[in-house]
Amino acid sequence: MAETIAHASREELRELQSTRLRDTVERAYENVSFYRDRLGEAGVSPADIETIDDVQILPFTTKEDFRDEYPDGLFAVHRSELRRIHASSGTTGNPKIVGYTESDLDLWDEVMARSMSAAGIDATDTVQNAYGYGLFTGGLGFHGGAEALGATVVPTGSGNTQRQVELARDLGSDAIACTPSYALYFAETAEEMGVDPRALSIRAVLYGAEPCTEPMREEIEERLGAIGIENYGLSELIGPGVAAECREAQDGMHIWEDHFYPEVVDPATGEPLPEGEEGELVLTSLTKEAVPVLRYRTGDLTTLTSEECECGRTTVRMDSVTGRADDLLIVRGVNLYPSQIEAVVLEFDDVAPQYRIDLHREGNLDHFELTVELVEGFDGDVDRLREAVLKRVQNALSFTPDELDLVEYGTIERTEVGKVKRVYDRR
Ligand SMILES: [Zn+2]
Repeated sequence: MAETIAHASREELRELQSTRLRDTVERAYENVSFYRDRLGEAGVSPADIETIDDVQILPFTTKEDFRDEYPDGLFAVHRSELRRIHASSGTTGNPKIVGYTESDLDLWDEVMARSMSAAGIDATDTVQNAYGYGLFTGGLGFHGGAEALGATVVPTGSGNTQRQVELARDLGSDAIACTPSYALYFAETAEEMGVDPRALSIRAVLYGAEPCTEPMREEIEERLGAIGIENYGLSELIGPGVAAECREAQDGMHIWEDHFYPEVVDPATGEPLPEGEEGELVLTSLTKEAVPVLRYRTGDLTTLTSEECECGRTTVRMDSVTGRADDLLIVRGVNLYPSQIEAVVLEFDDVAPQYRIDLHREGNLDHFELTVELVEGFDGDVDRLREAVLKRVQNALSFTPDELDLVEYGTIERTEVGKVKRVYDRR
């Protein structure tokens, strides 16, 4: 089932999505007063939903809705049917609480097993899982998928990196699952320990939970001598397991759309955008029991394509997330995403994949300071390199940083646990 559906014809898939959407809307309406009220306000009744295209008449659900309905206002089942609770922390306000029935946990295992299988992992492999365990869905999500696949899991969790390197070496881990910034930190730590990360048996890095540009992926692949496979998900929908790249193409993540229906909308107006245009990803769960989600505004900016992939899977693919609608920096009237800066500076071979952005105000003006690291052992002309990077940033982004600092390798603080922080906005 897992692999056949990803190769189904578009018609077959639409049929399945339509049936599942009708069920989901009906269950949400019957069991969640929040959805009953929202649908009522929008003048929509479950009987209005005939095909998957009718998803567009449904109202959106937002992260504020999750916070307002804290802790369990969005739950569609009785507490006794729950098997697990996870939560996604935010910097402000209540955490977003999500629950899983037994069938939700099975679904999660299935989509994660599918994702890992697309990355070329099978039952003979050992997967070192360096995502954080706990309320965060990363750890247990990858854990369940690897077990469902029949692989061997080494549940290291995040942090304790020297130990991770030793275990990877001594147990012969075939894959490591972690954030992209952690993958680089792992490689650096190995090098410091005198262990060549390329000589380890790790052949795939299953990364996610942070945006990752193409140059960053290349850096990970180069440093670890492995292929980098991107994964996408979010707790509000299930956790990791919403979409994953295939190793054949490494060209966009296959959305497991028999369970999660994707749309892309204009982040400002909420109007659906045609395929190929960049906008905010909106997802509707089609089979979730405990917390069905209608048209969730993910805040993640991406592009969808339904062109068939060279791997033969027929599902819609999403591009790497180029930024979060909330990550947008407006600096002296220019719109910038940190990922755009990352993509530009990493074009330079002499620049290491570590950077930070510091923003503050001087008088009434924004002051933008960009700090990037030089590669280890750089012995070229720093001023010349600074000129070149500045020029490239200006050309590519029509924006000039007030300061560009090129610092020695190892100067910028690394993130060992959790998601990396690159922007310090003190305005
Ligand atoms: Zn593919």
